[in-house]
Amino acid sequence: MIPFNKPPYTGNEDQHVLAAMRSPKISGDGEFSKRCQAWFEEKLGCKKALLTPSCTHALEMAALLIDVQAGDEIIMPSYTFVSTANAFVLRGAKIVFIDIRPDTMNIDERLIEAAITSKTKAIVPVHYAGVACEMDAIMDIASRYQLFVIEDAAQGMMATYKGRPLGSIGHMGAFSFHETKNYTSGGEGGLLIINDERFINRAEIIREKGTNRSQFFRGMVDKYSWVDIGSSYLPCDIQAAFLWGQLEKSEEINQNRLQIWNAYCEALSPLIASGRVIVPSIPEGCVHNAHMFYVKVHDLYERTALLEHLKGREVFGVFHYVPLHSAVAGPQFSRFHGDDRYTTKDSERLIRLPIWYGMKEHELVQVIDSVLEFFS
Ligand SMILES: *Cc1c(COP(=O)(O)O)cnc(C)c1O
Repeated sequence: MIPFNKPPYTGNEDQHVLAAMRSPKISGDGEFSKRCQAWFEEKLGCKKALLTPSCTHALEMAALLIDVQAGDEIIMPSYTFVSTANAFVLRGAKIVFIDIRPDTMNIDERLIEAAITSKTKAIVPVHYAGVACEMDAIMDIASRYQLFVIEDAAQGMMATYKGRPLGSIGHMGAFSFHETKNYTSGGEGGLLIINDERFINRAEIIREKGTNRSQFFRGMVDKYSWVDIGSSYLPCDIQAAFLWGQLEKSEEINQNRLQIWNAYCEALSPLIASGRVIVPSIPEGCVHNAHMFYVKVHDLYERTALLEHLKGREVFGVFHYVPLHSAVAGPQFSRFHGDDRYTTKDSERLIRLPIWYGMKEHELVQVIDSVLEFFS
């Protein structure tokens, strides 16, 4: 069976993980964490990069930092992972979903302004498949209404919008290093980047259980103590060591994924030309990271048939999000503003095909042949 995903692994991880295990400091913010964070600060051009145990935790930190209060409204697409919403629901926020654009499956920036009320606190664009949301328009709305923008860039590492790394455009950005993402810190992991320096001090405190421990380690205070609310948002250094092995090969991983992605596009071009399938479209000015290769077929019925067919050919294709507004917890915590023209319909048409760093030629061919066979 060709799996949908294999966790990225370069071979460099082993020696770094061993080194971390044998170092005297294996808790958070050890040598490898510092190395990774410096790498991200340079690569993403952000004011501060803080590793977290997951993207979920990075989003929770962002919700704490913008001081979400009960009843505040947060605007986001319904077509996203549950954590995008839950990080804010945990603080008592009401989620306001708006429709997506069918070309990128990203939030439709033209619908945001009409969903804003006096309670709106933030906009959370999700860069689906590592393809950027229309950030100029989103930042313009946010500044006119004095809203925060938290980018859910869980899938967006190494992708850019008009030359700017995803995650580095809003006030903060959250990334995931879960094993299903392009880079992993050993299965689970995340990163919060801070672009608005007003948040840096408090971010360090919240991440260190509400203490000023980070300042203590830098010699800025002679004792550390309880100064604010907080939690434990640091991964151990072994996770950072695993990640470092991948950051050393970040470009190689990225290029390899892009090659596979492009090969899919080329091989499926007859189906694209005849309108049998739609593949992701990359807007001008956006550089993506081949996080995902999906096709959209005619409808739910055809998708079910294609998934069955692929299974019969030992290919594991998968669909993706059930829109959050129609999930069990949806009605309790959210409302959908405006019409659902594309969220439900297009989510039901979408299939993700196998793609991972190091996927073999014969595996790719098997997937492609199976898809072409279905439509012939
Ligand atoms: C993977 C993902 C998350 C959650 O990441 P974790 O690191 O598993 O917490 C959040 N949002 C989006 C869009 C994701 O794809």
